[in-house]
Amino acid sequence: MVWKVECDCFERTETSIDSIKVFQELKDFFQEQVNKEIFIEKIPQQPYYVWNDEGETIKWFATKWYKCRKCNCLWEFNYPDFPIRGFVRKFDDGIYKGRGF
Ligand SMILES: [Zn+2]
Repeated sequence: MVWKVECDCFERTETSIDSIKVFQELKDFFQEQVNKEIFIEKIPQQPYYVWNDEGETIKWFATKWYKCRKCNCLWEFNYPDFPIRGFVRKFDDGIYKGRGF
């Protein structure tokens, strides 16, 4: 029998991060997935928010992206800077859909 590591992507959902406890749990989760070589950490390549300020384009990038090696899902993780909440977004097909939230 071949032992196969499965990912938790299907069971996990997008979330907004409104407490240090939730943030810590998520950080631990993502780090654990990286340690198990299920997720690969990536530098965010596209901004989740873009706007113009007096002719200047301002882009906000999430803190980290994670790519799942099992199901190809892409996770976007933006750390909170309380009182500003953080968030976790999920792209099932691995394709980033740009800004939202
Ligand atoms: Zn997965």
